[in-house]
Amino acid sequence: MRLPKAASAFRDSLLQWATENVREYPWREQERSRYEVFVAEFFLTQTPADNVADVYPEFVDRYPSLEAIEEADEEDLVSVIDPLGFQRMRARALKSIARSVDDLPDTTGQLRELERVGPYVANATLCFADRSKLPILDRNVERVYSRVFGDRFPDSRSDREDFCTEMLPEDPADVRRYNLGLLDFGAIVCTKESPRFDDCFASEYCVYATSG
Ligand code: SF4
Repeated sequence: MRLPKAASAFRDSLLQWATENVREYPWREQERSRYEVFVAEFFLTQTPADNVADVYPEFVDRYPSLEAIEEADEEDLVSVIDPLGFQRMRARALKSIARSVDDLPDTTGQLRELERVGPYVANATLCFADRSKLPILDRNVERVYSRVFGDRFPDSRSDREDFCTEMLPEDPADVRRYNLGLLDFGAIVCTKESPRFDDCFASEYCVYATSG
């Protein structure tokens, strides 16, 4: 796939921005296991990060492994997840996952076979925990790329995944920082309702900004 002209400028600036601005959350600590990252990403798909941060430390303390989830009383699990919403659905899905595997697999294909695990959770888990060179694509990422690159950001899901893959930095050591930066750039600068054009490194070439 041929990327837009501004792609490399955006990539470089985002990496730089990420160095100073990526937010600290407990699940982003360097030594977190695949399970610990997975749990966070599983919750983050439908709940804001600050809310997840309120519940996460207690959750991983009480349930430090899939085995602990399998053995847990479902009602206890529901009550810990309760502040995040969708608690029963989430508790049942986690129980089902814990019953189906001893350890979380290390491929996106196998992760996606688990209950309620979609492409975002699978890729984010392996990128952030295992440092795999995988793209992440959620609504925030779609918004950022759609705004910056206009109609050069494709319409179909599979083309968008290819686009996100091509946008990743060449050096695998930069991929985690790039993806975290992309998530946080969408949450802090290029927000849905009030994008901060004045604080944005992309404002000179961003299609959304330059098209008025
Ligand atoms: S210039 Fe505005 S719309 Fe474009 S990426 Fe920056 S904040 Fe988003």
